[in-house]
Amino acid sequence: MTFEYAPAPESRSIVSIKPKYGHFINGSFVAGKKHFPTINPATEEILSHIALGGVSDIDKAVMAAQKAYTKTWSKLSGKERGKYLYRIARILQERAREFAVLETLDNGKPIRETRDIDIPLVAAHFFYHAGWADKLDYAGLGHNPKAYGVAGQIIPWNFPLLMLAWKVAPALATGNTVVLKPAETTSLTALLFAEVCQQAELPDGVVNIVTGDGSTGSAIVNHSGIHKIAFTGSTEVGKKIARAIASTDKKATLELGGKGANVVFDDAPVDETVEGIVNGIFFNQGHVCCAGSRLIVQESIAEEIIEKLKVRMAKIRVGDPLDKNTDLGAINSKEQLVKIKELSAIGDAEGAERWSPQCNLSDKGFWFAPTIFTGVTQANRIAQEEIFGPVLSVLTFRTPQEAMDKANNTPFGLSAGIWSEKGSRIFWASQHLKAGVIWANTFNKFDPASPFGGYKESGWGREGGKHGLAAYLKNGKETGAK
Ligand code: NDP
Repeated sequence: MTFEYAPAPESRSIVSIKPKYGHFINGSFVAGKKHFPTINPATEEILSHIALGGVSDIDKAVMAAQKAYTKTWSKLSGKERGKYLYRIARILQERAREFAVLETLDNGKPIRETRDIDIPLVAAHFFYHAGWADKLDYAGLGHNPKAYGVAGQIIPWNFPLLMLAWKVAPALATGNTVVLKPAETTSLTALLFAEVCQQAELPDGVVNIVTGDGSTGSAIVNHSGIHKIAFTGSTEVGKKIARAIASTDKKATLELGGKGANVVFDDAPVDETVEGIVNGIFFNQGHVCCAGSRLIVQESIAEEIIEKLKVRMAKIRVGDPLDKNTDLGAINSKEQLVKIKELSAIGDAEGAERWSPQCNLSDKGFWFAPTIFTGVTQANRIAQEEIFGPVLSVLTFRTPQEAMDKANNTPFGLSAGIWSEKGSRIFWASQHLKAGVIWANTFNKFDPASPFGGYKESGWGREGGKHGLAAYLKNGKETGAK
């Protein structure tokens, strides 16, 4: 039975968007020279104009961050730094609704997700790292661990404010200062976060936000005043960054792409598994680096799982991201929609069978119905390449070893899921899967205490937890620093 839902739109009146934004440097907003529009991907409405930062803006931001590091931030005790992080976390909670609505408008993701997942996790990251700030000497991170100085941070558009929190919270907790560039299509919540820094009376220059495009990101990577790079985005740009810093002493964490395998054994609880598959690939429109974008299901139960999955997919509500009933929102940009369409057409041409439920998609904005491809083989591009959209490739297996071989047969190694009732099978599989994050009988669960990162082309290093802190600290013991 399908329920009809009356529209339940969240009001956007809580959000006030300026017609034009500058950069946030040294505690103040400074005017940009050139600007580009940022749009609501659900309606194509222009929301505002964002400054295009150049080399000189990055230079000013790095100088401000260096000064803040030397004169203020490095002189504060961990306990004092922690107080600022707690204050930011509390303000984020107080302004959660404003952030959720703004993120939904700028990104296209459903309000249900920004309200219940993104923004609560953002606050949780600041709370978690606030607690670490005065305990670094006792955390097994080496003797008297020291900050690098200025961290350059470049973030993507799929979880704009959450990726900012993953980067800024550990950097500040460990005593670094920051120059951050948000993604071109989703800068608005980062600019609102700049206001939170002012409200929290964070010392000037500790956080600097320069908006722009790839060239702005490249200026951060190549700036000699930056000693640590933290990047989340495509493997292609990750490789460019790795090449750019190869001959320097810059440290880097790179969180890149994925093609996560969701492995379903014949003893898996069917209904829970179907929910987990839906959450694995259709959460956040599939714009998730660790999405379960390959379903690898045991042949004997494949038919039943796919049949139930189709019934479940027909109930996914696609539409207005601000409607509290919506499950699947808009694709973040025209470019991303083109990429999803192209790769899906390649799936058709390679002989896989496409299925989507009937959806009434709006003519305005960027939309793609939840889609599965069955009959996919390992050689198909839709089994190897990151589509980064609501598209699931289904493969089958007969023996557990075949499942592991197929799961590991991509250039990536970021995430995987295992569905089985047997603990022994889960432990066996988790030892054979080459993935940085493995979920058992669940998917897409995140916690600030849990390190996140990948193998192979999924990147370098870990973010989150104690591992994530280590990435922002010179080990006093190793460098001989006092
Ligand atoms: P990018 O990797 O291009 O963007 C990530 C961030 O890097 C953005 O802030 C971007 O700026 C910036 N950037 C772009 N070029 C450079 C450069 N040369 N040096 C430094 N920074 C740079 O991802 P896209 O947005 O282009 O998405 C392309 C594909 O990447 C997607 O289809 C998806 O497959 C994958 N992707 C993966 C993500 C993940 O979390 N693993 C996240 C986002 C995308 P700007 O936005 O201005 O271009």
